[in-house]
Amino acid sequence: MFEKVLIANRGEIALRIHRACREMGIRTVAVHSTADADAMHVRLADESVCIGPASARDSYLNKAAILSAATITNADAIHPGYGFLSENADFAQMVEEHGFTFIGPSADHIRMMGDKITAKQAAEAAGLPCVPGSAGALSSEEEALRVAGEIGYPVLIKATAGGGGKGMKVANSAEELRESWRLARQEAKAAFGNPDVYMEKYLQKPRHIEIQILADGFGNVVHLGERDCSLQRKHQKVLEEAPSPALNAEARARIGQIACDAIRKLGYRNAGTLEFLYENGEFYFIEMNTRLQVEHPVTEAISGIDLVREQIRVAAGAPLGYTQADIRFSGHAIECRINAENPETFAPSPGRVGGYHAPGGLGVRVDSGLYSGYRVPPHYDSMIAKLIVHGTSRNECLMRLRRALGEYVIEGVQTTIPLHQRLIVENDFVNGEYDIHWLEKFMGLKK
Ligand code: ADP
Repeated sequence: MFEKVLIANRGEIALRIHRACREMGIRTVAVHSTADADAMHVRLADESVCIGPASARDSYLNKAAILSAATITNADAIHPGYGFLSENADFAQMVEEHGFTFIGPSADHIRMMGDKITAKQAAEAAGLPCVPGSAGALSSEEEALRVAGEIGYPVLIKATAGGGGKGMKVANSAEELRESWRLARQEAKAAFGNPDVYMEKYLQKPRHIEIQILADGFGNVVHLGERDCSLQRKHQKVLEEAPSPALNAEARARIGQIACDAIRKLGYRNAGTLEFLYENGEFYFIEMNTRLQVEHPVTEAISGIDLVREQIRVAAGAPLGYTQADIRFSGHAIECRINAENPETFAPSPGRVGGYHAPGGLGVRVDSGLYSGYRVPPHYDSMIAKLIVHGTSRNECLMRLRRALGEYVIEGVQTTIPLHQRLIVENDFVNGEYDIHWLEKFMGLKK
């Protein structure tokens, strides 16, 4: 087992990884920018190294600085968390070439899944059902019009290098498609430096359902059920739950089996998530995330499995200690992502946290680096906390979530807690009847 792990991230996820290491008797190295010198992950880690100025490009994305930090602290392995360098194949490769273990999949798998076109091709070859669409990047407007004619409108134009919901455009007609074609390419070029786009049938009322998998280096693969992440704003997840109110045991077992078979065929190792859209009883693969997800705690809550611990064990060469038949799900879990933002306009609200009191009690987990006096820096993602609640049933979970949100005190910055409080009492949400467009309609952003 590793003696020392460097955590190449910040905020709640750096803390989350530190906690798993500490429980496993592994020493930790925190890295941080100058803006994060007082952050909780830095305070709790055994050692810390400042890797650069506030700008993420010069610190958390600075591969050389992170590798130097690992070298001088004599770390054995690097955990990338999510975001930043977690899906950067070149970084994973450099880590290994420098003699450290990358706690995640191989660079080749990250590369394969990082490009949407090769990802879809690999997924299809591994037996995953995909959304109908173009076979690869579209070479011209004429080709876009021809493919749209074949699959039927509405269609969605997506960036091949996409991520974070950027560069997606819906077209309802040939006329709109001409416009979307141009805009999507411009946006893709600006956001990812690559204008290539591809096309998918636009599903009108799907749910976003993803399957958590774990695989070791010995061909053992298990799935830990699904998460329903349909509550989104601008294609960004806001609240996630497990299990999905829309799946029954048969559908869960079916997609879980398909996912495990595909992962085995791909020879993938470590934790990963297969994302699907689910409509009219059918699953359509959209992408694979080759890392730990923000919403992993809902899976931990219902399965009792510590996903970060498993990532570390598998990366150290240990086999999974169980088979699919050993995995049992219990109860229901919901996660609310709490951002330092105005809950109406979503304008970021960085600043100094005054009074702070996190909720507690049975079935309540808060993953956050906040404390009274902490300054939320303006340089990074605005998520400052995750509230995860577990109950024996969805109803119990909802009652507990209401109670916990009501207890949560974060003074000095605006947060999205009031948005969560409003949405979890809505009938559609309470009844589990929502799709990926529901939240934006509820907020009056969409008809
Ligand atoms: P990104 O990598 O940018 O996050 P994804 O392919 O994961 O892009 O899609 C993000 C979200 O966009 C999905 O969760 C879903 O809400 C929406 N979406 C993606 N593909 C489709 C589609 N074919 N039809 C309808 N909505 C889609």
